[in-house]
Amino acid sequence: MKFFNSVVTKLWFTIILMVTAVLIILTIILSFYFRNYVLNSTESILEEDLHRVEELILREHDVDGLDSVQLLHEDNLILYTDNRTITPTNQIEQEIQNYVRQLDTRETTVIIDDIFDHSYMVKISYLDTFLDDSPVIIKYRDLEVINESIIGITLITIISGGIIFILTTFFAFFLISRITRPLINLKRSSFKTAQGTYNKLEVLSRDEIGELTLAFNKMNDDIEKNIAMVVHERNLREQIFNSMDEGVLYFNDSFELLYSNQKGAEMYENLKSYPEEAPLVQDNVREVMTEKSGHIERIELDSDHYQLSYTPVEITDSSYGVIILIRNITQEVNTEKMRSEFIANVSHELKTPMVMLSGYSEALLDDVVSDPEEVKEMVGIIKDESDRMNKMVNELIGLARMEAESGMIHKSSNDFMALLSKLAFKFKHDIKENDISLNINTPHDSVIFNFDYDKMENVVNNLLDNAIRYTSPGDSITIDVSIEDDITILISDTGTGIKKEHQNRIFERFYKVDESRTRGKHGTGLGLYIVKSIIESHGGSIKLESEFGVGSTFIIKFPKQ
Ligand code: ADP
Repeated sequence: MKFFNSVVTKLWFTIILMVTAVLIILTIILSFYFRNYVLNSTESILEEDLHRVEELILREHDVDGLDSVQLLHEDNLILYTDNRTITPTNQIEQEIQNYVRQLDTRETTVIIDDIFDHSYMVKISYLDTFLDDSPVIIKYRDLEVINESIIGITLITIISGGIIFILTTFFAFFLISRITRPLINLKRSSFKTAQGTYNKLEVLSRDEIGELTLAFNKMNDDIEKNIAMVVHERNLREQIFNSMDEGVLYFNDSFELLYSNQKGAEMYENLKSYPEEAPLVQDNVREVMTEKSGHIERIELDSDHYQLSYTPVEITDSSYGVIILIRNITQEVNTEKMRSEFIANVSHELKTPMVMLSGYSEALLDDVVSDPEEVKEMVGIIKDESDRMNKMVNELIGLARMEAESGMIHKSSNDFMALLSKLAFKFKHDIKENDISLNINTPHDSVIFNFDYDKMENVVNNLLDNAIRYTSPGDSITIDVSIEDDITILISDTGTGIKKEHQNRIFERFYKVDESRTRGKHGTGLGLYIVKSIIESHGGSIKLESEFGVGSTFIIKFPKQ
């Protein structure tokens, strides 16, 4: 089957068919023409011979007077009268004579077939009008030569056919190498192109096949470029999608998930493990698909919050799909929660001292108390509360600035020991007044590294201020500075210490442990939050180790630079 589908076989078969047809037609025409030609010329020859014999007989006026020997020498001649045959006759001539005698009409030319398997052309002349014994002259010729010639022509045709067959077969092989080989190469290359392997073919000729090869090479080039472009765009899109924090899912109109970026696949897998939420997503996809309008939904999985945006997309006139954008909004939700808590806290923290300020000043104005001692105490409280409010407002402003700058710090090379000396000097008075001691232990004269001087001053200031406030007379405060793998600063006191249950929370905004234990000014609960924020913005960490009733140690670490 494959053999007959080949172009070479088809060409070869067509040529053979054409040549055979031409040869057959030619043979038929030639045979016909040759036969006519031979018959005509045979007839002319016989005619001439017959005339000659006629003249001879007529000259003598009598058949018996003829020189019988002369007539006997004449080939293919039969001479007979009504009664007898004059020329000696063989069996064939006897048959011819019988045939002519039996003719109903006076034919002058007849062709007799089947006399001993031979055909004969017979020419007859009737001399009864000239002579009394009505002689008849017959001249004949064997036509077998014509048949033999026709057989010869047919044989020549068959031999020519055979030669043409062999030549055509050779020609077909020539075609394979010259015409069909480039076509076969083109076929192979097309299959390779279909498999994604692009190769160029050598252009071997300038004919149509050469042009076809050129066109194929160009097509291959174009396909390669286009595929490379498509692959590049797909990879780019894939990278863009995979670099997104949002998960992207695409469902087709059969509700099959056809595409998802990395985040989307992870989120969808996670979502599927929640038997209540997963069918909800399927239902929403179905709804968005039928209503062809977008939809946004928020779901909570454990403590994580997600926002799912469903968007219908029209792929073709009749087919729709749905893109789901999944965003983890836990941080936003928490920030929002913290923000409202923060506002509530600030309002509460400001409201308490304001109420106290207003209450005590009103009492003073109304002369509710007259005892100078009590008046002094009241004015002291008003002062304390004003200071606390002032401190809180300053800390809030600092906090707001820090958050607005989103932790921006201006680091420069500074000596931490110099900063400590400055603050030790600043707190000298407070320390003496509260009857406590401050020791700074370090083997280094200077500890220089990159930090924001003002912010670091704020850190140590807050920690020392706390240490002084949460210690009693006779207690001590120690600052240890060491450089090993990191720069480590320990600020310890032998003060009240912090109970276990509070230890994890004291770095939270507005978190305060029992206020009644604080000495002097009331705290705002913002100090340690600010301290932690500044240290972390320097790439450092702060930890608390404390035992209630024994004391507290704040351990600060900065990476060595
Ligand atoms: P405050 O302005 O109220 O001191 P902080 O954020 O500085 O706010 O401190 C939070 C809480 O941590 C304080 O209310 C206090 O109970 C506790 N605290 C801080 N430092 C010490 C310390 N050195 N000793 C004991 N308790 C402390």
